[in-house]
Amino acid sequence: MTAETRPVDHVIAALREFMGDRVTTNASIRDQHARGEDTTTPVQPDAVAFAETTEEVSKTLALCNRHGVPVVPFGAGTSLEGHVTPVRGGISLDLSRMNAILDVSQEDMDCLIEPGVTRHQLNDHLRDQGLFFPVDPGSHCTIGGMCATRASGTNAVRYGTIRENVMGLEVVMADGRVINTGSRTRKASNGYDLTRLIIGSEGTLGVVTKIRLRLHGIPEATSAAVVQFPDMKGCVESVIQVMQLGIPVARIELLDEVQVAACISYSKLDNLQILPTLFLEFHGTEAGVKEQAEAVEGIVTDMGGLGFAWAADQETRNKLWTARHNAYYAAIASQPNSRGVTTDVCVPISRLAEAILGAKQDIVSSGLSAPMVGHVGDGNFHTVILVDQDDPTALERAWALDRQIVARGLSLGGTCSGEHGVGMGKAEFLEQEHGMEALAVMRSVKIALDPKGILNPGKIFRN
Ligand SMILES: Cc1cc2nc3c(=O)[nH]c(=O)nc-3n(C[C@H](O)[C@H](O)[C@H](O)COP(=O)(O)OP(=O)(O)OC[C@H]3O[C@@H](n4cnc5c(N)ncnc54)[C@H](O)[C@@H]3O)c2cc1C
Repeated sequence: MTAETRPVDHVIAALREFMGDRVTTNASIRDQHARGEDTTTPVQPDAVAFAETTEEVSKTLALCNRHGVPVVPFGAGTSLEGHVTPVRGGISLDLSRMNAILDVSQEDMDCLIEPGVTRHQLNDHLRDQGLFFPVDPGSHCTIGGMCATRASGTNAVRYGTIRENVMGLEVVMADGRVINTGSRTRKASNGYDLTRLIIGSEGTLGVVTKIRLRLHGIPEATSAAVVQFPDMKGCVESVIQVMQLGIPVARIELLDEVQVAACISYSKLDNLQILPTLFLEFHGTEAGVKEQAEAVEGIVTDMGGLGFAWAADQETRNKLWTARHNAYYAAIASQPNSRGVTTDVCVPISRLAEAILGAKQDIVSSGLSAPMVGHVGDGNFHTVILVDQDDPTALERAWALDRQIVARGLSLGGTCSGEHGVGMGKAEFLEQEHGMEALAVMRSVKIALDPKGILNPGKIFRN
């Protein structure tokens, strides 16, 4: 077969008939779609198509399905496990231009959006209405991408992950059919839960084209605090106690001393010492916030915490949480010429100290630098293992460390991924985590919904 007659060339020509120059084979745009924020080897798609409507997505999938051409949905490309790398070429279907906020209902506290909307965009839009959307990954990702990776962030301990905050979806299936899932009611017992099937399916089962989100009222009072510890043990054990006592903190984030050093330099947090640290936030009524804060202060003091530094005004709070959201970039900047291999272990809260202290030992033994941050209220923590891009052995050593940290997480009853997803990076752990039979059931779902395997091939499953 000559290059001109490849099925993908036929598809590109047909896509141009209804999307015009929004279908491009420009090398630098293909390059931007060749991988996410990860360390996978970049692979250029044959073309990038910028969809603007559900109908265009539907026609694209129907066409690709007919010709057996792979389609990789693309949001903002911030995923961390090789999710958007088009390992088998084909079309990178960029949804970032589908970014309309279609409807907000103050009465029902929900909204309908397109998948390219970002959480910053949505929260700017909602602010005047006294509502907010709480799920807050530390990246400028799209909410469609968040649905696909089952993302969360610093607020999940109080408000849940994207899974708990999506009420329904419009999804284009591999053959181009458009379906609606879920309902607008607070509860429903009405058949298989297709919303939850699509959430976390990483673009392998369908393309999300509309999202109905649950919204929350902006709390009457908010207060934040920072507490530092002479050692990691006291820091982690404080978190465990706070969670076990059921104190409804809105955010409780851990940074180890290596990450704190990186944040001091990147985000100018000059008032911090280079010590294990917790960032906390409390939401509620004035009295409720005070009560929560006093309860937590008692616990951290007993655990050797060096006292609360309050961040009651909005400006100080913003600086603190911006620094937390930039922690990944601070980590990367702490070692020149680096990319990161990110671990995402999540364990039952009672095993958090073993998981974190064990990971710290693994990092020291590896000789690599790996700043640690965690959404520890959920039992979830990340190490950003820094890989010098000029050191050919560094990537292998980083993956060896990743495997060690994941293995301990699994042995403690945890998961290889609390929120980043599987992509390619965590695929090797799925069988151990779920067992062969459960994995076989997942494969049957994939085959039933995408029999030609066109949707984001090479992800979640190892082959
Ligand atoms: C600095 C930084 C901080 C981060 N912090 C967090 C964090 O705190 N919590 C967290 O959970 N993650 C975090 N991440 C990871 C990442 O931001 C999330 O995985 C995010 O959900 C990816 O969204 P995206 O729009 O960039 O999607 P992409 O990277 O473009 O795509 C991710 C996956 O979703 C699929 N996809 C995208 N859009 C659609 C769609 N409309 N329909 C179907 N499939 C689709 C893609 O095919 C791919 O498999 C962080 C990443 C970075 C770089």
